[in-house]
Amino acid sequence: MLLNIKNLNVNIENKEILKGLDLKINPGEVHVLMGQNGTGKSTLVKTLSAHYDCEVTNGEIEYKDKNLLEMGVAQRANEGIFMSFQNPVEVKGVNNSYFLRTAINEKRKYHKEEELDTMEFLKLTKKELAKYDIDKKLMQRDLNDGFSGGEKKRNELVQLLLLKPDLIMLDEIDSGLDVDAVKVVAKVVNDLLKDKNRSLLMITHYDKLLSHIKPDFVHILKDGKIVKTGDYSLALELDSKGYEAIGIEDETN
Ligand code: ADP
Ligand code: MG
Repeated sequence: MLLNIKNLNVNIENKEILKGLDLKINPGEVHVLMGQNGTGKSTLVKTLSAHYDCEVTNGEIEYKDKNLLEMGVAQRANEGIFMSFQNPVEVKGVNNSYFLRTAINEKRKYHKEEELDTMEFLKLTKKELAKYDIDKKLMQRDLNDGFSGGEKKRNELVQLLLLKPDLIMLDEIDSGLDVDAVKVVAKVVNDLLKDKNRSLLMITHYDKLLSHIKPDFVHILKDGKIVKTGDYSLALELDSKGYEAIGIEDETN
């Protein structure tokens, strides 16, 4: 098993957000998290990537048979956990290309591999960007600084392509993207998923992305727990009928 979450409780600002969540992910599986706003979807993926907002108060998380909760942010990244943010942060003064090369080389060092020099890195990024038709000008700018919504999402894809994580977590990567950009996301993700040791945990509200990336499991979160699990047909049903029709009432009532 790649990831095993048992009875996870997480607080944000002393408020209980996740309340006894269980989730198992095997290598090669695609899992989708759905649920109304504020049900804790982002909190779950943030907790897995050791975001400082999230305080684990109870439960266990095993990742590759190790205790994930004992690993810091950097170690989790080096062990292959990757999260694409719902709103990627802008970092003025940090060149994107430099940022990416540092990230890759940290991971290579951790795995006792040779670091990439500037030329090798440029060659690698050029190849990957060309394959997915991503503008290489993004590399010369500061990290996400002044990037449009679509450019920020594309830059997340560049990180994915270069870091090749084992657990890919995408938090609403499709929101605000046009049809063509959604197709690029799907192509990158599907190409990475050809490696059957790699798994995906994805948050989305739309069927648009799921029609390109076929999920094995669709989970619905409500009040900090997974209350329903199904296959792709659950997402389709939700898309056509809404939450109430599948027995999930509105949280805000
Ligand atoms: P979802 O992604 O399902 O829409 P989130 O996991 O982002 O929901 O949020 C779950 C709950 O946690 C919400 O009630 C939200 O307001 C609260 N929350 C999230 N981040 C913070 C924060 N930094 N400070 C205070 N409350 C937060
Ligand atoms: Mg969210």
